[in-house]
Amino acid sequence: MKTKTEPVTLSTLGELKAAGYRIVGHCKHPYCGVGRTMKLDELIDRLGPDYVVINETRIARNFLCQSPQCEHAQRGQRGGSITLHPPT
Ligand SMILES: [Zn+2]
Repeated sequence: MKTKTEPVTLSTLGELKAAGYRIVGHCKHPYCGVGRTMKLDELIDRLGPDYVVINETRIARNFLCQSPQCEHAQRGQRGGSITLHPPT
């Protein structure tokens, strides 16, 4: 009998939403680093529920910081990284 590894494999936007996960985008500006919870419903509207989030680049590349002190936000410069957070 094989040992159990992960109980479920979550990889798409639809699966993450169903499991209650959050996706947080992080600004890549070195002096900012602000994190913001992304709206899963908006991402699903744009990319579809079958969009695979693991190792994705489109959400991260399109992340727009909203911190008023941030140079990236002031210039409207997109780019960041995302992390996945299980429901607490
Ligand atoms: Zn920022």
